[in-house]
Amino acid sequence: MSVNPFKMAQEQIEIVAKQIDLDPNITEFLKNVERALIVSIPIIMDDGSIKIFEGYRVHHTTIKGPGKGGIRFSPEVNLDEVKALATWMTWKSSLLNLPLGGAKGGVCCDPSQLSMKEIQRITRRYTAEIINIIGPDIDVPAPDVNTNAQIMSWIMDTYSMQKGRTIPAVVTGKPIEIGGSVGRGPATGRGLYFVLQALCEKMELDLKDLSIVVQGFGNVGGTIAELLFERGCKILAISDITGGIYCEEGLDIKELAEWRDNGKYLDSYSGDKIKHISNDSLLTSKCDVLIPAAIENQITSDNADKINCKIVLEGANGPTTPEADEILNKKEITVVPDILANAGGVCVSYFEYVQDTNSYFWNLERINKELEKIIVSAFEKVWEVSKEKKVSLRLAAYIIAVSRIAKAIELRGFYP
Ligand code: NAD
Repeated sequence: MSVNPFKMAQEQIEIVAKQIDLDPNITEFLKNVERALIVSIPIIMDDGSIKIFEGYRVHHTTIKGPGKGGIRFSPEVNLDEVKALATWMTWKSSLLNLPLGGAKGGVCCDPSQLSMKEIQRITRRYTAEIINIIGPDIDVPAPDVNTNAQIMSWIMDTYSMQKGRTIPAVVTGKPIEIGGSVGRGPATGRGLYFVLQALCEKMELDLKDLSIVVQGFGNVGGTIAELLFERGCKILAISDITGGIYCEEGLDIKELAEWRDNGKYLDSYSGDKIKHISNDSLLTSKCDVLIPAAIENQITSDNADKINCKIVLEGANGPTTPEADEILNKKEITVVPDILANAGGVCVSYFEYVQDTNSYFWNLERINKELEKIIVSAFEKVWEVSKEKKVSLRLAAYIIAVSRIAKAIELRGFYP
C-alpha cells in the first residue's frame, strides 16, 4: 500500500517529538513547510502545440541558512511528495551540521516522452517562475531524479540572464566548466560507501565479503554498485525502471554501466546465468545489504516481512514507510536511514556552493577527504545516540537532526 510521503514525514516528526519531549508548538511548526510555490509551465512543444506542466518549489525551513534540495522531473511528482522531500532535506543538512535549510522542487512531466529542446524549455520556464524564491542566499537547487548537470546549467544560465550577471552559486551539481565541483556527480554513492564501511567496522563485517542488491541504476544506485563492485563485493541484483536482473554469481557492473550509458535499459540486457526479475522480487531477494536507490515508498507493510537481508542502506529518499520500518526493526535488520546514508550529495553540494561563493576550487582529494570526515562523524554520532538511547539508527538520526533545528527555532523565537 502506498503512503502519502508528506504524512509519512509528519509522522516521523511526531515519533521523534515524543522521544525528545519536544515543545508541541515547535512540533506543529516543523510539521508544516515554510513556503510552497505551485507554478504553471506553458511550453511550445516541438510539434507547435502548447502543453501546460505543473511545477513546485518548497522550502521546509530556512532557519539555519539557504534552502537546499534537488529538483526532480517525473510524472509522479506532486506537491505532497515535494513537501516530504523538502522536510527530509532539513534533517539531512541538520544531521551533517551544514548551515543550510531544507528545500525541494519538481516538475510533473515524463522526460522519456520529451525532446531535449522541450526539456530545456521546461527547465528555463520553471526557473523563471520560481526565480523569486531561489538564489545563493535564498535556496540553492540541485539535481534529483531525471535531472542532471545539463539541466543545472540551464537553470544557472536562465537565472544569470535574468539577474544580468553570472551567478554560479544559484545551483549545485553543475558541470565543472561553469563552477561545478569535482566529485559532486558520484558524491551520494560515495557517501553511501563511506557509511557502509563505517557500519561494517561496528558490526564486525568484512565489506568485501558482502552480497549486495541495488534497486535503481541511476546516479546513486549506479555509483554505489560500481564502488562496491570495485571493492570486490558480489552484486547479486540491480534494477532500473524496466525491472531487475539477477545473477547468483554476481553481475559485472562495469559492463552494465556501459550498457546503460549507451542509452539502454536492463530489460533488454541478456547474458549467461542472468535472470530477469521484477522490482518487487528484487527487493525481497536474499542478500547481506539491500540498497533501495530509486524512489520512495518501496519497502512497505506489504513486503517488509519478506525483506531478507542484514542491512538496508537507504540510497533513495524515503524508501521505507514507518510501518515497514517497525517490521524491519523487529526482524533486527539494521536500517541506515536516508538522511544519513545518502547525505553525501548534499555535503558535496555544500562544498560546491562554498567554492562558488569563494571563487576558489578544491581538488578531488580534498573533496573526498572532507566528505568522508563529515559523513563518518555524523555516522559516529548517530551510532552513539542509538546505543545510548537504545533506539534505531533512524530514530537516533532524527533525534540529533530535529533537536538541532528545534534549538535554532527556540533561539530565534517566533516572528513577530
Ligand atoms: P536517477 O534518475 O539518476 O536514477 C533513478 C533510478 O531509479 C533509475 O535507474 C531509474 O530507472 C530507476 N527508477 C525510477 N523510477 C523507478 C520505479 N518506479 N521503480 C524502480 N526503479 C525506478 O536518480 P538518482 O539521482 O539516482 O536518485 C535516486 C534516489 O536517490 C531518489 O530517491 C533521490 O531523491 C535520491 N537521492 C539522490 C541524490 C543525488 O545526488 N542524485 C542525493 C540524495 C538522494
